[in-house]
Amino acid sequence: MAVPLQVYELGNACKKFLFSAELIGMLTLLTFQNKLTLIIGIRLLIETFAAGYFYLKCSDSAGEPIQEQQDYEMGEISFSSQRGDNGQFESQTPDRNECQECKIVQPYRTKHCSKCQKCIPKYDHHCFWIGGCVGELNHRMYWLFLFFQCLLCFDALLQFQNQFTFYSIYDEEFGHDQYQPYYFFILIMAATSFGFGIFTGTLLIYHTMLILTGKTTWEHTKRDKISYLNFYPKYYHPYNYGFIENIKLTFFHKSILSHWIPPQKDQIQEQCNIFDNKYYSCC
Ligand SMILES: [Zn+2]
Ligand SMILES: [Zn+2]
Repeated sequence: MAVPLQVYELGNACKKFLFSAELIGMLTLLTFQNKLTLIIGIRLLIETFAAGYFYLKCSDSAGEPIQEQQDYEMGEISFSSQRGDNGQFESQTPDRNECQECKIVQPYRTKHCSKCQKCIPKYDHHCFWIGGCVGELNHRMYWLFLFFQCLLCFDALLQFQNQFTFYSIYDEEFGHDQYQPYYFFILIMAATSFGFGIFTGTLLIYHTMLILTGKTTWEHTKRDKISYLNFYPKYYHPYNYGFIENIKLTFFHKSILSHWIPPQKDQIQEQCNIFDNKYYSCC
């Protein structure tokens, strides 16, 4: 079922509000009279700005327009030199799809996003938090955004807990309720941090697993419907080059799109890692 556009806009508005709320929370911490507040406050502010920076970087490059195939720089890793006219060779690699909307033959791993109305290279998913698609060029920014957001949420949660304890002991010791008005505010902020921490933490773990295994969310969840993956045996992923290369291809691509030429069918080797092996698979 298609999600109405208004829901995505609401998601974006909520995200901006929550960023502001977190920032206010961090700034409020700075004003409290606690000997550790300055160091903690500065640390939390750095985490807030880092999360915000990568969020904006991720949003800016969301839905990168597809370029013509000849403009791509060849990926460092390819199992075959080029796709030729040889019939035998053709049958060894999967066919590429055509996009009826963009009128192009899509590069491998590309999917047309109906919300962005363009083809997205190495399509991961359309994310309503960033208001666009996560694809090849902004996946690293998305992961860094999740990392700092998650770090911030749990760090803030810890500090709210410390603040709450500090104020309640202070009030109890001196027998008055000087800090009582802060209690409700701290609880609300702590609940917000916890909720967001769990949400972003789950996504962070999931995307770490995807990056390590060289997959995208689309490839992981819709493998049965993707022709260039179905071309290979069920538990073989043609773009899994090993943990180190997979990390390099995600984080050090110099903002250049890869060809993602898949291996020839008769050249594939058995893959074995903690996520995919002959006993079980995360696919
Ligand atoms: Zn398209
Ligand atoms: Zn999109």
